[in-house]
Amino acid sequence: MAAKKLEISGVVQGVGFRPFLFVLAKKYHLKGEVSNTSGGVLAIVEGTLDNIKRFIRDIYDKNPLLASVTHIESSDTQVQNFSSFQIVKSRASKSRATLISPDVSICSDCLTEMKDFNDRRYEYPFINCTNCGPRYTIIEDIPYDRPKTSMKHFKMCAVCQQEYDDPLDRRFHAQPNACPDCGPRVFLTDNKGKRIDSDSKNAVTLAAQYLSQGKIVAVKGLGGFHLACDASSKKAVKRLRLRKARPHKPFALMAESASRLFDHVHVSSSEKQLLESYHRPIVLLNKKQTKNNHGPVLDVAPYNKTFGVMLPYTPLHYLLLEKGPDILVMTSGNRSGEPLSIDNEDALDAFSHIADYFLLHNRDIYFRADDSIVRFQAGEQRFIRRSRGYAPLPVLLNKKMPKILGCGGGLKSTVCLTRDNYAFLSQHIGDLDNVKVYGFFKNSIDHLKNILDIQPDIIAHDMHPGYMSTDYATAQKDVKKIAVQHHHAHAAACMAENDLDEAVIAITLDGTGYGTDGHIWGGEILLCTHKAFKRKAHLSYIKMPGGDAAVLEPWRMAASVLYQAFGNDFLSLDVPYIKEVQKEKLSFVCQMMEKNLNSPLTSSAGRLFDAVASLLCIRHEISHESQAAMELEAMANENIPEKNILDGVYEFDIIHHKTGDNDRLFEINMMPSIRQIIEDLQEGKPLGLISSTFHHTLVAAFTDAAIRVSKETGITKTVLSGGVFNNDIILTGMIKALEENCLKVYTHKKVPTGDGGIPLGQVVVAAALEEK
Ligand SMILES: [Zn+2]
Ligand SMILES: [Zn+2]
Repeated sequence: MAAKKLEISGVVQGVGFRPFLFVLAKKYHLKGEVSNTSGGVLAIVEGTLDNIKRFIRDIYDKNPLLASVTHIESSDTQVQNFSSFQIVKSRASKSRATLISPDVSICSDCLTEMKDFNDRRYEYPFINCTNCGPRYTIIEDIPYDRPKTSMKHFKMCAVCQQEYDDPLDRRFHAQPNACPDCGPRVFLTDNKGKRIDSDSKNAVTLAAQYLSQGKIVAVKGLGGFHLACDASSKKAVKRLRLRKARPHKPFALMAESASRLFDHVHVSSSEKQLLESYHRPIVLLNKKQTKNNHGPVLDVAPYNKTFGVMLPYTPLHYLLLEKGPDILVMTSGNRSGEPLSIDNEDALDAFSHIADYFLLHNRDIYFRADDSIVRFQAGEQRFIRRSRGYAPLPVLLNKKMPKILGCGGGLKSTVCLTRDNYAFLSQHIGDLDNVKVYGFFKNSIDHLKNILDIQPDIIAHDMHPGYMSTDYATAQKDVKKIAVQHHHAHAAACMAENDLDEAVIAITLDGTGYGTDGHIWGGEILLCTHKAFKRKAHLSYIKMPGGDAAVLEPWRMAASVLYQAFGNDFLSLDVPYIKEVQKEKLSFVCQMMEKNLNSPLTSSAGRLFDAVASLLCIRHEISHESQAAMELEAMANENIPEKNILDGVYEFDIIHHKTGDNDRLFEINMMPSIRQIIEDLQEGKPLGLISSTFHHTLVAAFTDAAIRVSKETGITKTVLSGGVFNNDIILTGMIKALEENCLKVYTHKKVPTGDGGIPLGQVVVAAALEEK
């Protein structure tokens, strides 16, 4: 007889792990006990050594769907002659290293019960079990036990308690376990907060009816509020746009099943799998050309090639779709620029002018989490936003890290904390210029520090002196601070998730990043290690007349490239752009640029996209981030037959600047392309063709420069990062062109290529600088 103590770490709490061990111990005739600790799960087993070995092997191979075992520390212990195998109370321990599960969509067992008229949880909107339900968003502290969640206010009835106590029940220690007798309830109010239902069931049925009648309903969900309406009702969608003052930005959709979508979008088998995964992200799917009148109306996502679609993830969503419209618009419920609403009172205050009705409930959301957004590009799954359903699962790194906090950038911000081999990325936080988002940012850091038990020794932040995240970092006391250049962080994030430790060529294309020369970078090729970088190529600097105003008004960037390409003469060019934009406005920005007034310099690829989008008269002013660039991409004619994508592109110059012996900086000048675009416009060439040629030209220019850097340095590994790689034509084209030229390409699959991935790079750079 042998006795072993097993300390199991990973996602092992709240996922049915102890019952799994209970059944497994029976199978191998082992006696002993198992308990949750703050560090994970602790099992003591007694039996034959062979059976204990099998037991351990099965823990790795056969653990529950939602569990993930990262390590089992096994040690000999005294034989105590246990008489059975038991699940015992949680033990506190010094280390608090357990991983917390993200929120999990309703499982098929619970769904079946919810639809069963004879089940005691028939149509109960909060049905859940150890395999499903809320987690991260209801946790106040660890270990993950009911009194430390927002379920602490609900006392289980005798029947629920019995399920909760029975190791063989699917609801054994399911912390949010509840039923209609003892658990949370939904209720419906009008837009003044006046209650209008008679009971829970009636509330859902009424809400569904109102949705079918074209009304807008604010729905309290898992990680926050949604504003919902019937996606096939032109009037309802239009009203939602008007009331939300959101003229163009695409709305997300929710359909009961993937097959419901087949008429409206293309769904590959991997996309279907992702839609149906327990993470339930919004998946961007290419629209079908369809004359079907029953699908989502055009207004849901105008000027876009894709719809963002998700499947229901809470029981309440299923009930609404079953009783209401087939496909719902489900857009985030937040005041413009603010974080998602999670509180009933706040929502009533924020949306009384938008929603006609409010479907509320009394289970508090402790920690908000926006829906995640994912897209398949170049054959792989890519995050646009990594949030609900994924956070706070860590990214596994190939080396042990000191305890570091990465504060992220300024827009689409997230934060990151490290411990051992883990990098824990927060959910999506938002744009920090908003005071409430900044509050959420600080809250997120404190909450994550607490539940992950990480007190950072180092804070890594962006070099930008104007970012709120930089402000936060510099205000912290008694901790080492390390500033990391924005594009170096982008590159390091991509290196880290691909386990690259050696020097690489990093192509980083985005909208804005503070450069070491004080200018705004964003069209860069860097030579990078984790520790350091050297700028090897960049787009020629152009002016941003009006500074930040030029980000919101792409016509200013168009004026800037025309000024650069033609000088003052551009005002007399015969193209639609000059006719559409007022002469006075153009002469005004011309003077600004001439006198160098409020015209910072930028090498940003994002601004170049804006310029071309406006030159083509696609979008002169934007109402949401990256709008012009996304519409330019949607306009591109990609149906041209497969050819070498570097053929038939516009002209560009690569200028060599000598920076040392056998060391050059390459400047990529796109002005020859701009002149050719103007010629094409004057000849009346189709905009789709001009747009796709521009895309391919940018790919060709950066490939050309990357090859030069590779020849000079002998380095062939290339990483791609930055928000511009959300653009499908650029990402796919770049991978193809670089690979055709024998460069090895690495891209983002675990964190967003945009600024949501920045804090991962920051912590990696900071850790490298700390290494002696
Ligand atoms: Zn379940
Ligand atoms: Zn109950």
